This record gives sequence, C-alpha cells and structure tokens, in this order.
Amino acid sequence: MPELPEVETIKNDLQKTVCGKKIVRVEIHNPKVIRQPAAAAFKRSVEGLRIKRILRRGKLLILELSDAKFLTVHFKMTGQLVLRRPPSVKKKLTAVALSGKSSSRVTFYLSSGMILDFNDQRLFGELRLIDDWHKLKFIRKLGPEPFDLTLADFKDMLAKRKTRIKPLLMDQEFIAGIGNIYASEILFRAKINPERPVRDLTPQEQIVLYREMLKVLKSAIKHGGSSVDDYVRVSGKNGDYARFHRVYGRKGKPCFVCSNVIKRITQGGRGTFFCPRCQP
Ligand SMILES: [Zn+2]
Repeated sequence: MPELPEVETIKNDLQKTVCGKKIVRVEIHNPKVIRQPAAAAFKRSVEGLRIKRILRRGKLLILELSDAKFLTVHFKMTGQLVLRRPPSVKKKLTAVALSGKSSSRVTFYLSSGMILDFNDQRLFGELRLIDDWHKLKFIRKLGPEPFDLTLADFKDMLAKRKTRIKPLLMDQEFIAGIGNIYASEILFRAKINPERPVRDLTPQEQIVLYREMLKVLKSAIKHGGSSVDDYVRVSGKNGDYARFHRVYGRKGKPCFVCSNVIKRITQGGRGTFFCPRCQP
C-alpha cells in the first residue's frame, strides 16, 4: 500500500501535470471504487470541475476542485493514478499499452487532452467526492504528520504509549503516513529492535528514532517512493527508493552493515524485517 512518500510523490507529480485542468468527462468502469456519492451522482458532479490544488494527509490524496468540492483518493492495496495521452495519437499507442489500462476503474478526461486513469486491480481503493475532507471519520482520528512534529512533540507522544515500537509507528492514529516498509527501514537505521516496548527506549534512542524517521521519509520522497508491489508514479514509471531498502523484503540476505542474516518475523499479522545484530 502506498505510504506517505508514495502518496507525496503522486501529489507532486499531479501538481505539475493536472493542476488548473478541467475534468471534462468521467467514465466509471467499475462503480465499486466510488464510495461517495453513488456512481451516477459522482460522475455528474465531477464533470466540469477544475482541479485547483493537490493535497495529502497521511496516505490520503486529496484533489481540491472548483465549487468547493474535494475528490479524495485512498489507494489501499493496488490503487494507481496514471496519466496518459489520448489513444488517437498514433505514436503514443505504446504508452497506452503500458499504462495498465485493463485494471482502469475510473477514467478522467482532462481539458488538456490528457487522460487520468484510476487503476485498481483488487478493488479496495476508495474515491469520494465530498464538501469537507476534514470530516472523514478516519481523517478525524488520524495522528499528526511526521514533518509537522517537533522532537518534543514526538517524545511526549511516545511517553503515553506502552506498546511495541514497530506496530506503534504503523498506527495511523499515533502518527500519519508510515506503513510496513518505512517502519522497518526507520527502525533499522535507528538500530532499534522492532519488538522493543516503547517505554524501554532511552532518551537517546528516541532522538535517533525521530531523526531517522524524518530522514528516511524525506529521502524516499526525493527518490519517488518505493515500487515494491503495485505502486507506480503518475507517469507509469517506478519509484526509485526500493534500491535503498536495507531490510524490507531482504529476508535471508546479508545485512549491508554487519553481514548477519536479515530476519523476518510477524507482528500483528504483518511481516517485519530486521537485523538481529544491528537491532538488538
Ligand atoms: Zn546488521
């Protein structure tokens, strides 16, 4: 599932390509991904609106439209937003073939002539057209954005918690945007074992954790996110950060720091990758 760096990358890509454009027509190929309002009303309301601004909150992408409407996109497992040229342009046919058109669930035709597909293989994605995205139930419960936090805030937040550190970093009500990939990568770089209870972290470890969290997220955004499952950028190309992963997806391989074997355990039903020697 796209995490903060991936959704931020999509936001930045869209900012450069579709901002100011009008959505002239909407085709809904599978209404399951339209959560609000009903598909017909969604189509009718979105057509004719202009894309004013692109926002992100946690893992949620928000398109601010004209008429004070917001189109929210929750990518979930396999959601993608891919921009392509219209198929009538012969030389671009290859690009169309590569855009994953077969899993397109909703197609937005833009005033620029470009076409934006919401692809979603497994249909867990959620599109909504709403008046106020702040009022979405899961948004109201969402924790702060990592980049809005001071070290003092972060320490205060940790002090109130008694759980293990890895599931806590992934808890969207604790902090927004971090999922399985980045929780593993952040903890490796902070040299903290994912099973450590939060209350046992030393003040020094809390500082290192805070710094590595911001560093990893910033670097991942800089490299366009991690294409490990279905995530692609708006261009259809892969993000580049997976080659910087040090533990995620590296079970059984040697640690880049100490050559010990990277281990995978299960925590709360999710795979956790770590180096037992670097993260005692
Ligand atoms: Zn190691």
